Amino acid sequence: MTRKGAPMEREPLGDMPIAEFRDDGHRLVDWLAEYFRWSLENPVLSRVRPGAIRTALPATAPEEGEPFERILADFERVLVPGLTQWNHPGYFAYFPCGFSTPGALADFLSTAVSQQAMLWRTSPAATELEEVVLGWLRHALGLPEIFEGVIYDTASTAVVHALATARHEKAPEVRTRGLAGAGSGAFRVYCSEHAHSSVDKAVITLGLGHDHLRRLPADDEHRMRPERLAAAVREDREAGHVPLAVVATVGTTSVTSVDPVPEIAAVCAGERLWLHVDAAYAGTAGILPECRWAIEGVDRADSFVVNPHKWMFTPFDLSAFYCRKMDLLRAAFGLTPEYLKTAEGSEVRNLMDTGFQLGRRFRALKLWVVMRYFGLEGIRARLREQLRLARLFADWVDRDPGFERVAPVPFSVVCFRAVRPGAGREALNALNERLLNGLNDTGEVFLSHTSLGGRYVLRLAIGNIRTTEADVRRVWDLLRERAGALQAG
Ligand code: PLP
Repeated sequence: MTRKGAPMEREPLGDMPIAEFRDDGHRLVDWLAEYFRWSLENPVLSRVRPGAIRTALPATAPEEGEPFERILADFERVLVPGLTQWNHPGYFAYFPCGFSTPGALADFLSTAVSQQAMLWRTSPAATELEEVVLGWLRHALGLPEIFEGVIYDTASTAVVHALATARHEKAPEVRTRGLAGAGSGAFRVYCSEHAHSSVDKAVITLGLGHDHLRRLPADDEHRMRPERLAAAVREDREAGHVPLAVVATVGTTSVTSVDPVPEIAAVCAGERLWLHVDAAYAGTAGILPECRWAIEGVDRADSFVVNPHKWMFTPFDLSAFYCRKMDLLRAAFGLTPEYLKTAEGSEVRNLMDTGFQLGRRFRALKLWVVMRYFGLEGIRARLREQLRLARLFADWVDRDPGFERVAPVPFSVVCFRAVRPGAGREALNALNERLLNGLNDTGEVFLSHTSLGGRYVLRLAIGNIRTTEADVRRVWDLLRERAGALQAG
């Protein structure tokens, strides 16, 4: 590549000189390569006290510029101790971060080429790559082409757009006159008791009112009950409300249960309700033929979200949102001020039309790089290994009388707890909380917890590209050791 006009020496008002950029860039990559090795021997959870990072940093910005090398040294000294290592093989908390080094390289590249894809003309590459790469993912998931995709930062943003589009379909006048001008009863949204809190935040954000989200009790396997849904919709109509949308979940946050999407889709079709499927974590499993069952019925949804940043080795943030009525979404959000009008017209898609956000990062690049670097087979092989590790761990739990598994393991999350003969609920909850805290204090691993029917439950979520069987074995050994010590103590 020719480098015409690139500044080679420091200019008083220019950017970092290219020669310096080259040196610092090499220094950074070398530092990171070392960090990945170093991080294995350091605690997963940061050990800093609240406020420690803030007080170690000056309260005001420096008046004089500083060399990058010195800034990097301070990063290592002050900030690295405050890093929670999401990409550590012992990270088993929440849903993991879909990190991979090719994805990190792509994110660096994306930032360095400085693209902002609000309009096609402000980045034809970012705009069209997004369409192509979401087409690849849609094809890998076996979803029909009618689902047009757009990349958002998170599944939380996706559900806001899904519900806003549902509202626009039902009551387009809200766009101009506001909810008060809709003149109907209150819109009602339905999900199971296990749906993610982003659904609550979406109804709050959209002014639908938190009271109008109905979280329906789930069945014994933590799945939405379609008959309860149908009954709730009937009740609401009779009460003068306006049923609007259902959010079904494929892979709920606590237990990774899968709502029966085909049956829910049938209720939605009969009642003319928008169906959004939140498959933020488990949707990726749909690229495995043996797990395709998990996304069965999604082809009948109105919208669907899957987060490659959760379980597809793509660094945070990248959420793939698909909608079968993207033109309706554009109608709900489209608004072009004079200064953004361009000559291309309808010949092109402008990403700013697909949501409330104007500016768009070049996120598609990292998904493109990840899908090309590993290939679909490479991704499938890694997912299969993580499914195997979860089943292996579940098997150890099942065979040990000191533990019990509290939910099925359809994917790579195991929910379990320590048990003691004769111990009551409170005692067991206290025991498991102490067990979790002690385990996380070791620094070797990080697990999270949930509550199921009043029981304090530990969650082991596997999804990190660096996690091996030895890491899963280690967490099991630590659990048994610590549970034994608690019993003896
Ligand atoms: N949906 C589910 C099922 C989740 O588990 C989560 C987060 O864990 C979310 C949505 C929200 O994800 P995001 O951080 O992408 O908004």
